[in-house]
Amino acid sequence: MAYKIAVLPGDGIGVEVMREALKVLDRVASKFGVEFEFKEALIGGAAIDAKQDAFPDETKEVCDWADAILFGAVGGPKWENLPPEKQPERAALLPIRKRYGLFANLRPAIVFPALIEASPLKKEILGDKGFDILVVRELTGGIYFGTPKGIFEEDGKRKGIDTLIYYDWEIERIARVAFEAAGKRRKKVASIDKANVLNAMVLWRDVVNEVAKGYPDIELSHYLVDNAAMQLIRNPHQFDVILAGNMFGDILSDEAAMLTGSIGMLPSASVNESKKGLYEPVHGSAPDIAGQNAANPCAMILSAAMMLRYSFDLEDAAKAVEKAVESVLNEGFRTKDLYTGKEGEILVGTSEMGDRIAERI
Ligand code: NAD
Repeated sequence: MAYKIAVLPGDGIGVEVMREALKVLDRVASKFGVEFEFKEALIGGAAIDAKQDAFPDETKEVCDWADAILFGAVGGPKWENLPPEKQPERAALLPIRKRYGLFANLRPAIVFPALIEASPLKKEILGDKGFDILVVRELTGGIYFGTPKGIFEEDGKRKGIDTLIYYDWEIERIARVAFEAAGKRRKKVASIDKANVLNAMVLWRDVVNEVAKGYPDIELSHYLVDNAAMQLIRNPHQFDVILAGNMFGDILSDEAAMLTGSIGMLPSASVNESKKGLYEPVHGSAPDIAGQNAANPCAMILSAAMMLRYSFDLEDAAKAVEKAVESVLNEGFRTKDLYTGKEGEILVGTSEMGDRIAERI
């Protein structure tokens, strides 16, 4: 059976980093005896240019067909003056998330030992082993979508309203994703809430506790969001999987990402109940370095590794890709964004970085 993959390179460096991820997947196919079927389609600015639509019908068909979607990046100065709803990011990413009900957003924040100096954290805090945290964020509910929502007039005064709603089934399904992920890692879940002041978060804590009963080998702890924000900086090592609702997850995943210090290294996944997923680097299309063979392909390659793990259950292959990235970094190879000029570092371009990672698998 072939795993079906929609390949959406998009714009700018999206195209360059996607090429390297495909190189790595080809290698995975031959090393692990699995078969991938790829179909490429236009997305974002490239699709606007060709089809006047950031997510055209042909691309929808390819995504419907696929088991998983690999997404590069979209956007750039050429499309910046379009109305907000036609902007490549908004008109491409949001409809994909909605079409496939991608309710679980997974964002690892990993500091590889070879890149410890990129982290803004002090050495005393970080130690010499780096850290590896996975933020599991609920993506389709919570205060960003609850109604009533809007700015209303009342007695001649304006009031802004957003509504925080979580249904028990929404909490339950995202909690399951976090517990399952923790089972493949260090077996710890830190659930984030604000149960001291918010009713929806009292329910959150309650449902997470119920779900935890089905996972007796996973250690669960609860953090109030303000404390979690501090603890991430004070001692990131205490975290394995962080489970959070939409808004708290939005904020904490960016905080955790910042602690790694290198945007070119950060992958992400958004998945639904049937394990269909969208896999994309956290970074954008980087127009400032596009076309120069200078982009770091690691975030895209690590996103492909997440696809192997979460959509295809190919854990060994996923680990092999992650290990290959780590080995190449340990050997000193650095793209421009990571290069500091220190002894032992070797500056390489996008394609050479991809070649080396593929070779190590
Ligand atoms: P960006 O992530 O594209 O770039 C920020 C900075 O990081 C730039 O200096 C860039 O050169 C650098 N950088 C990013 N990825 C890198 C990589 N892999 N290797 C080396 N350096 C890298 O963010 P931006 O500049 O704010 O946005 C540029 C365009 O991308 C905009 O049009 C924006 O809307 C779009 N964008 C798209 C996505 C997405 O597709 N999901 C996400 C963010 C931004």
